[in-house]
Order: sequence, then C-alpha cells, then structure tokens
Amino acid sequence: MTHPSIVILTGAGISAESGLGTFRDEGGLWAQHRIEDVATPEGFARNPQLVVDFYNARRAHAATATPNAAHAALARLEAEYPGDVLLVTQNVDGLHEMAGSQRVVHMHGALNGALCAACDHRWPAPLEMYVGQACPSCGQPTARPDIVWFGEIPYHMDEIQETLSRADIFAAIGTSGNVYPAAGFVQLASHVGAKTVEMNLDPSETVALFEETRPGKASETVPLWVDSLLRR
Ligand code: NAD
Ligand code: ZN
Repeated sequence: MTHPSIVILTGAGISAESGLGTFRDEGGLWAQHRIEDVATPEGFARNPQLVVDFYNARRAHAATATPNAAHAALARLEAEYPGDVLLVTQNVDGLHEMAGSQRVVHMHGALNGALCAACDHRWPAPLEMYVGQACPSCGQPTARPDIVWFGEIPYHMDEIQETLSRADIFAAIGTSGNVYPAAGFVQLASHVGAKTVEMNLDPSETVALFEETRPGKASETVPLWVDSLLRR
C-alpha cells in the first residue's frame, strides 16, 4: 500500500508560541514599521540602514527562540511517516530545523542567509549584517538579507507546485492566507483532489476553501494531527 503524500505549509503562527511575534501582533517588530519600508526592494534602495537594522533585530530575536511542540511534532512526522512529507515554510526563522526537520523549503528566504544583489551568490549571514558589506564571490558592496520581499518571486516554486500537484493531503498551519502565492496552495491541492486541513488560531482568509479545520494553538492542534497520521 502506498502512503498518502503530505505537503505542509507553515506561517508565523507556528512560531508565535516560541515568542516570535506574528505580523499582526500589536507591539511586535512589524507593528513598528511599514511593510513598504522594511520588506520591499524599493524600501531597501531608499534606506538600506533601516532594513539591515530591522533584519539584524529579527535575527537576534530569532536566535533566542526555541522550537515549540508544533515544530517538534512536524519533525517527528518527517522522521516516522513512511510516505513523502514536504514542509514548506513562509517563516524566515530556523525553528523547524532546530526541532529536527531535515527537508524544509524556505519559500520566503531565511534570516541566516546573505544574498548578493549583484551576482545572486548566497552565503551564511553573520549575526549582524551591515550596509555596503562585500560579497565574498564578486567583491561588490551589495550584500543584503536573503529574504524574499514583497514584489519578489518566492523561492522553490517549481518544486512546491510539482509536489502539490501529486499531494494527497495538504495542511496549512499558522498562516493568515493573505499573501500569495502561498495563500493559493490550498486551491492547487483541492484541484488535484487532496484532502485539505487548516490549523490556525483564528480562521484564515481562505478558511472556506479547506475541507477540515482544526482551530486552536499550533502547539496543541499539530501534535494531535500528527498522531492521527502516524496511527493510520
Ligand atoms: P500572519 O502574521 O499574517 O498570520 C499568522 C496567523 O497565525 C494568523 O492567522 C493567526 O491567527 C495565526 N496564529 C497566531 N498564533 C497562533 C498559534 N499559537 N497557533 C496557530 N496559529 C496562530 O503570518 P503569515 O501568514 O505567515 O504571513 C505570510 C507571509 O506574509 C510572511 O512570511 C511574511 O513574509 C508576509 N507578511 C508580512 C507582513 C508585514 O510585512 N507586515 C504582514 C503579513 C504577512
Ligand atoms: Zn556578488
């Protein structure tokens, strides 16, 4: 018997209980800045210092966080489930990896990465990046955080779409369904007949498109869902 293949999409909500604020949290890092200023290529061109400082602060904050029971459950699913599991995250923290997940697709980039705006070279980011930092490959002063900003194309879309096109189960965890293309994955999955499930604290924008919802905190809903899959 073949085992259903699973695609999981995670968002800021899965890291909320690890102390990393979601984008809507009042008083969080995002609340103090406008998206246009810190999360677009135009914002970086206007004020690179503000953007580099913002991601330095997020990197420092993420470095103090530890995975919660939801991250741990997804790592256990990957380790114990006999079928295919692809974990796609919109998060730029490294909590899935810290929990033990090995195959994690960071569609919006990662805080621990640096990218050269001139030659696309990538390397591990230092804890503190600075404006005008040189690229170790081409030598230009064009280093930037390896984060996919609004207006840029998310990473690994071919692999994600190809895997979604043969998914039997699609789960979205801790994501508000506001940002495309990730918010459209549920439609792709339903289109190929996958069973779809949302695990979110509040109903997302796209909740009506899911077959099943498991409302609640990710640290409670995700371990239960993983148990149900491993018991099959
Ligand atoms: P989000 O902050 O938009 O949504 C988080 C979701 O998690 C919410 O629907 C909330 O109900 C849920 N949630 C909160 N705590 C939870 C918990 N303990 N357990 C389960 N669910 C919980 O985050 P997102 O959907 O990941 O955003 C997608 C992408 O959009 C991000 O990667 C980011 O790049 C971008 N984004 C940026 C901004 C911004 O710049 N201000 C705003 C929105 C989205
Ligand atoms: Zn370069």
